[in-house]
Amino acid sequence: MSEEKNPPSSDMAKFREFFSKAKHIVVLTGAGVSAESGVPTFRGAGGLWRKWKAQDLATPEAFASNPSLVWEFYHYRREVMSSKHPNKAHIAIAECEKRLKPQGRRVVVITQNIDELHKRAGSENILELHGNLFTTRCTKCGDVSVNKDSPICPALAGKGGGGEGGAQGSQNKCNNTFELPHSYSANFA
Ligand SMILES: [Zn+2]
Repeated sequence: MSEEKNPPSSDMAKFREFFSKAKHIVVLTGAGVSAESGVPTFRGAGGLWRKWKAQDLATPEAFASNPSLVWEFYHYRREVMSSKHPNKAHIAIAECEKRLKPQGRRVVVITQNIDELHKRAGSENILELHGNLFTTRCTKCGDVSVNKDSPICPALAGKGGGGEGGAQGSQNKCNNTFELPHSYSANFA
Protein backbone atom coordinates (compact mmCIF):
# COMPACT_ATOMS: atom_id res chain seq x y z
CA MET A 1 0.00 0.00 0.00
CA SER A 2 1.26 3.44 -0.84
CA GLU A 3 1.45 6.05 1.85
CA GLU A 4 -1.23 8.73 1.83
CA LYS A 5 0.09 12.02 0.53
CA ASN A 6 -1.96 14.24 2.82
CA PRO A 7 -3.17 12.27 5.82
CA PRO A 8 -5.68 14.08 8.06
CA SER A 9 -3.86 16.14 10.67
CA SER A 10 -4.70 16.20 14.36
CA ASP A 11 -2.23 19.01 15.06
CA MET A 12 -4.29 21.59 16.99
CA ALA A 13 -1.62 24.29 16.82
CA LYS A 14 -1.55 24.04 13.04
CA PHE A 15 -5.34 24.01 12.94
CA ARG A 16 -5.52 27.20 14.98
CA GLU A 17 -3.00 28.91 12.73
CA PHE A 18 -4.91 27.87 9.63
CA PHE A 19 -8.27 28.73 11.17
CA SER A 20 -7.09 32.19 12.25
CA LYS A 21 -6.56 33.09 8.60
CA ALA A 22 -9.66 31.44 7.19
CA LYS A 23 -12.26 33.79 5.67
CA HIS A 24 -14.89 31.22 4.71
CA ILE A 25 -15.54 28.56 7.31
CA VAL A 26 -17.92 25.62 7.03
CA VAL A 27 -19.02 23.69 10.09
CA LEU A 28 -20.51 20.35 9.07
CA THR A 29 -22.71 18.74 11.71
CA GLY A 30 -24.86 15.67 12.15
CA ALA A 31 -26.58 13.73 14.91
CA GLY A 32 -23.45 13.84 17.09
CA VAL A 33 -23.81 17.53 17.89
CA SER A 34 -27.40 17.06 19.09
CA ALA A 35 -26.78 13.82 21.00
CA GLU A 36 -25.50 15.87 23.94
CA SER A 37 -28.87 17.66 23.98
CA GLY A 38 -30.64 14.30 24.23
CA VAL A 39 -32.18 14.39 20.78
CA PRO A 40 -32.96 10.81 19.68
CA THR A 41 -31.79 9.85 16.19
CA PHE A 42 -33.87 6.71 15.59
CA ARG A 43 -30.90 5.30 13.73
CA GLY A 44 -28.71 2.34 14.54
CA ALA A 45 -28.90 -0.09 17.44
CA GLY A 46 -31.60 0.63 20.00
CA GLY A 47 -32.79 3.70 18.13
CA LEU A 48 -36.22 2.57 17.12
CA TRP A 49 -39.56 4.31 17.16
CA ARG A 50 -41.97 1.45 17.73
CA LYS A 51 -40.38 -1.07 15.38
CA TRP A 52 -39.01 1.36 12.81
CA LYS A 53 -35.73 3.11 12.16
CA ALA A 54 -35.97 6.71 10.99
CA GLN A 55 -34.72 5.66 7.54
CA ASP A 56 -37.75 3.40 7.10
CA LEU A 57 -40.29 6.15 7.78
CA ALA A 58 -38.47 9.21 6.46
CA THR A 59 -39.18 8.63 2.79
CA PRO A 60 -41.77 9.87 0.32
CA GLU A 61 -42.64 6.20 -0.30
CA ALA A 62 -43.42 5.56 3.37
CA PHE A 63 -45.51 8.73 3.46
CA ALA A 64 -47.43 7.68 0.34
CA SER A 65 -48.22 4.24 1.73
CA ASN A 66 -49.09 5.29 5.29
CA PRO A 67 -49.29 9.05 5.81
CA SER A 68 -50.91 8.84 9.23
CA LEU A 69 -48.12 6.62 10.57
CA VAL A 70 -45.42 8.90 9.20
CA TRP A 71 -47.20 11.91 10.63
CA GLU A 72 -47.38 10.26 14.05
CA PHE A 73 -43.63 9.75 13.92
CA TYR A 74 -42.98 13.37 12.94
CA HIS A 75 -45.49 14.63 15.49
CA TYR A 76 -43.57 12.67 18.14
CA ARG A 77 -40.27 14.13 16.97
CA ARG A 78 -41.69 17.67 16.97
CA GLU A 79 -43.05 17.21 20.49
CA VAL A 80 -39.75 15.81 21.78
CA MET A 81 -38.00 19.04 20.78
CA SER A 82 -40.06 21.12 23.23
CA SER A 83 -37.92 19.72 26.06
CA LYS A 84 -34.56 19.84 24.23
CA HIS A 85 -32.17 22.75 24.17
CA PRO A 86 -29.01 23.80 22.34
CA ASN A 87 -25.86 22.56 24.07
CA LYS A 88 -22.41 24.12 24.41
CA ALA A 89 -21.37 22.96 20.96
CA HIS A 90 -24.35 24.63 19.24
CA ILE A 91 -23.68 27.79 21.26
CA ALA A 92 -19.93 27.82 20.51
CA ILE A 93 -20.64 27.49 16.78
CA ALA A 94 -23.16 30.34 16.91
CA GLU A 95 -20.75 32.53 18.87
CA CYS A 96 -18.00 31.79 16.38
CA GLU A 97 -20.21 33.10 13.58
CA LYS A 98 -21.02 36.28 15.55
CA ARG A 99 -17.40 36.92 16.53
CA LEU A 100 -15.97 36.47 13.05
CA LYS A 101 -18.65 38.46 11.24
CA PRO A 102 -17.25 41.91 12.15
CA GLN A 103 -13.88 40.72 10.80
CA GLY A 104 -15.48 40.02 7.43
CA ARG A 105 -15.20 36.28 7.96
CA ARG A 106 -18.16 34.08 7.20
CA VAL A 107 -19.22 30.93 9.03
CA VAL A 108 -21.78 28.59 7.48
CA VAL A 109 -23.30 25.66 9.30
CA ILE A 110 -24.21 22.78 7.03
CA THR A 111 -26.25 20.29 9.01
CA GLN A 112 -27.97 16.99 8.54
CA ASN A 113 -30.04 17.72 11.63
CA ILE A 114 -33.70 18.64 11.48
CA ASP A 115 -34.03 19.81 15.09
CA GLU A 116 -33.35 23.55 14.60
CA LEU A 117 -30.94 23.60 17.56
CA HIS A 118 -28.32 25.55 15.58
CA LYS A 119 -30.92 28.20 14.83
CA ARG A 120 -32.10 28.29 18.43
CA ALA A 121 -28.46 28.70 19.54
CA GLY A 122 -28.19 31.82 17.35
CA SER A 123 -26.52 30.59 14.17
CA GLU A 124 -27.77 32.54 11.16
CA ASN A 125 -26.09 31.01 8.13
CA ILE A 126 -27.49 27.50 8.19
CA LEU A 127 -28.05 25.04 5.38
CA GLU A 128 -30.33 22.21 6.51
CA LEU A 129 -29.64 19.34 4.15
CA HIS A 130 -32.75 17.44 5.23
CA GLY A 131 -35.09 20.34 5.97
CA ASN A 132 -36.40 20.61 9.50
CA LEU A 133 -39.21 19.39 11.73
CA PHE A 134 -41.05 22.68 11.69
CA THR A 135 -41.13 23.36 7.97
CA THR A 136 -43.84 21.67 5.98
CA ARG A 137 -44.50 21.31 2.30
CA CYS A 138 -47.93 20.88 0.77
CA THR A 139 -48.14 17.73 -1.34
CA LYS A 140 -50.75 19.36 -3.59
CA CYS A 141 -49.54 22.88 -4.28
CA GLY A 142 -45.94 22.80 -3.06
CA ASP A 143 -46.52 25.54 -0.48
CA VAL A 144 -43.65 25.61 2.05
CA SER A 145 -44.45 27.04 5.48
CA VAL A 146 -43.08 27.25 8.97
CA ASN A 147 -45.48 25.53 11.34
CA LYS A 148 -44.88 25.09 15.06
CA ASP A 149 -48.45 24.15 16.03
CA SER A 150 -48.67 21.49 18.72
CA PRO A 151 -50.27 19.27 17.60
CA ILE A 152 -50.17 20.32 13.95
CA CYS A 153 -53.77 19.08 13.61
CA PRO A 154 -56.32 17.86 16.20
CA ALA A 155 -56.15 14.26 14.94
CA LEU A 156 -52.56 13.98 16.16
CA ALA A 157 -53.29 15.02 19.76
CA GLY A 158 -51.99 12.31 22.09
CA LYS A 159 -50.54 10.28 19.22
CA GLY A 160 -46.98 9.26 18.46
CA GLY A 161 -46.32 7.28 21.65
CA GLY A 162 -44.05 4.26 21.81
CA GLY A 163 -40.88 6.22 21.27
CA GLU A 164 -37.31 5.09 20.87
CA GLY A 165 -36.77 1.49 21.81
CA GLY A 166 -40.46 1.12 22.59
CA ALA A 167 -42.49 -1.70 21.14
CA GLN A 168 -45.67 -0.44 22.75
CA GLY A 169 -48.24 1.66 21.03
CA SER A 170 -50.82 0.64 18.50
CA GLN A 171 -49.52 -0.15 15.10
CA ASN A 172 -51.35 2.09 12.80
CA LYS A 173 -52.21 0.24 9.65
CA CYS A 174 -54.86 2.55 8.27
CA ASN A 175 -54.12 4.86 5.40
CA ASN A 176 -56.33 7.71 6.49
CA THR A 177 -54.90 11.13 5.84
CA PHE A 178 -55.51 13.60 8.62
CA GLU A 179 -57.11 16.91 7.84
CA LEU A 180 -54.01 19.06 7.58
CA PRO A 181 -53.76 22.59 6.30
CA HIS A 182 -52.53 22.42 2.68
CA SER A 183 -52.27 18.60 3.00
CA TYR A 184 -48.92 19.02 4.66
CA SER A 185 -46.23 16.45 4.36
CA ALA A 186 -43.26 16.33 6.62
CA ASN A 187 -39.86 17.31 5.28
CA PHE A 188 -38.22 13.94 5.14
CA ALA A 189 -35.12 13.45 7.20
ZN1 LIG B 1 -51.55 23.47 -0.74
